[in-house]
Amino acid sequence: MVYRIEFDIAAVFLTLFIIYYIVIKKGLRRHANRVYMGMLVLNFTAEISDIVGSLCNNSPEYYSPLIQYFWNYIYLFSHNMMALALLVYLFYLIGYERSRRTAIIILVIPYVIETLLLLTNPIHKLIFYFDDDRRYLHGPLFPLLYTIAFLYMVFGVYLVIRHRKGITPAKSNALLFFMAITCIPIVVQIMLPQYLLTLFFETIGLMGILFTIENKDDVINPTTGTLNRYALQTSLDRAMITGNHTLLVIKIPNLNYYNKMIGFENMNDILRRISNWLLVMCESYSCYDCGRGHFAALCEGISDEAVDDMRNKTMDRFDRPWGKGKFSLVFPVQFGAIKLPDDVKTMENLFMLIDAPFDGKISSEMDVEKAIGRYERNVLVERLVDKAVKTRSFQVYYQPIWNYEEGKVMSAEALCRLIDDEFGYIPPDEFIPVAERNGSILEIGRIVFEEACRFYQEGRLRQLGIEYIEVNLSVVQCMSRELEKVFDNVLSKYSIDASRINLEITESATAENQELLFDTIETLKQRGFNFSLDDYGTGYSNIAYMYEMPFSIIKIDKSILWKALHPTSGTGSKNAVIYLENTIRMLKAMDYKILVEGVETMEQKLLLEELGVDYMQGFYFSKPVRKDVFTDYVKVVNAC
Ligand code: C2E
Ligand code: CA
Ligand code: CA
Repeated sequence: MVYRIEFDIAAVFLTLFIIYYIVIKKGLRRHANRVYMGMLVLNFTAEISDIVGSLCNNSPEYYSPLIQYFWNYIYLFSHNMMALALLVYLFYLIGYERSRRTAIIILVIPYVIETLLLLTNPIHKLIFYFDDDRRYLHGPLFPLLYTIAFLYMVFGVYLVIRHRKGITPAKSNALLFFMAITCIPIVVQIMLPQYLLTLFFETIGLMGILFTIENKDDVINPTTGTLNRYALQTSLDRAMITGNHTLLVIKIPNLNYYNKMIGFENMNDILRRISNWLLVMCESYSCYDCGRGHFAALCEGISDEAVDDMRNKTMDRFDRPWGKGKFSLVFPVQFGAIKLPDDVKTMENLFMLIDAPFDGKISSEMDVEKAIGRYERNVLVERLVDKAVKTRSFQVYYQPIWNYEEGKVMSAEALCRLIDDEFGYIPPDEFIPVAERNGSILEIGRIVFEEACRFYQEGRLRQLGIEYIEVNLSVVQCMSRELEKVFDNVLSKYSIDASRINLEITESATAENQELLFDTIETLKQRGFNFSLDDYGTGYSNIAYMYEMPFSIIKIDKSILWKALHPTSGTGSKNAVIYLENTIRMLKAMDYKILVEGVETMEQKLLLEELGVDYMQGFYFSKPVRKDVFTDYVKVVNAC
């Protein structure tokens, strides 16, 4: 029989094309990908050895017996391994779990048996042998090789069908296609053994896998050409189950800022450099570009010493600049090592750690435990905020504002309180930002506003000498188109004039959202509301914009006062006093009323009186208190 090698030759070209395609697409370091590469190499070896072996078998007279034996063996060894390699590939795709180790060992046994049979074949000649004319002939156990390969395929089909939920339909179809297409030529070849078809069909199957499963376009970050967060998610799903992994996270701060400063192209070049450097440093692990200047490497079975080594290398590298020429920049870096699954229990926590922005000025280590604690606290606070919104259990406290000239309490700041039955007092500094992020601030703002209006009306505050109530307004509220309508409804419900409410806007908000705020403030001002600028001096003020906005009162932040005269130590810096004094003078010259908050001591009060402050607010007068306590306090102080 003359073996026809045309199909094998075609298969060689196809395999070379696939390998070339993967190489130009930058072979990516992931296990499944390496197994796929292994299958290609096996396939290629089988093709070459099948061609040479068949040539030897066709014309044995031209080749030595050793060479004939050698190539036939190489073919059988490499081709036999394909079925097992496919199973390994399947295991990686569906996420192999530790508990299945025994199953895997059992699966390897048939392969071991056939390998032993092949190794001992020269003695027993049960698989193949050469007759006196050195013609290649199958031995009685040769069908065993096909049977085992067939059983492996059947098991593969079972695995794909059973785990099809864990892999996408496209993937499971590609795998079933691969297995079906490798079975067709087996049948053909039983009838037409001279046509060496199997490898050709296997290569077609591998190509199918290449363009579906191994097509990495959707898992690659186009900027750096590295695996993206989608790919990371798939790998992490598996790593969380198998354990024994460490995720290294490397972050640079404030990518947006650098993009603006040196331009996208230059920054992308730097990100590519960082990514390439990471690929070299973690060469035996998979590396990922998670976006926003955050990178990760997923390391299996890495020792603590190796992690230390990578930490040191990272810190050393980031001590030196990235990029070239005038765009050569030094970045602080944050390095984190997260043990999976010991350090994190959920994927959500894990991605929070990966995504949490690094806003450091100097290179540092990520405190995984602290970050998770912070995150979980945030999740809890969010839950408590939602609950309090539903049950309307927010309370509003009032802190008196002292009018120095008139020597009486003339207003109060309404401050929201969240006191949970189970978790107790949650400070507004903690829950307000959470509520701003999830939108509940709109409801909270409405509750506080309504409470303040009701209190002003029902508590007969006007008669007690209280001229208005200060209500904090979040910038998120200013973005709501409904704001004016909501306020209008409440005002008419309690028949209150808008001038009885002074809306406080924090200085940081005016720095970031000038246009938007300007519109909202203008509209509300025309409606009759007055405005106070809160937290003045905390570092954001753009005085040019500020004085275009119609603020009546400027509330100087307590940090400015405390630097000039600290409430507990009783000391302060001379420059801070000069700063406070001149700030007050300047603002007064601009016709603003000045309020200083955080007044805790008599000394502070005296200093502020000397500097000509109009209003004061602080623990020296009263902490924020419930409305009945506030009323009693005002009755005494204002001697009504
Ligand atoms: P803020 O608007 O600057 O409110 C003043 C904060 O300083 C209050 O903290 C008050 O208790 C505290 N304070 C007043 N006098 C003193 C003092 O003499 N010493 C010290 N150490 N602290 C003093 P609180 O109530 O914890 O509120 C914190 C922040 O939460 C507020 O800062 C405000 O930005 C926000 N907030 C509170 N309630 C609301 C609300 O209803 N809506 C909005 N949007 N924000 C609110
Ligand atoms: Ca305030
Ligand atoms: Ca304030």
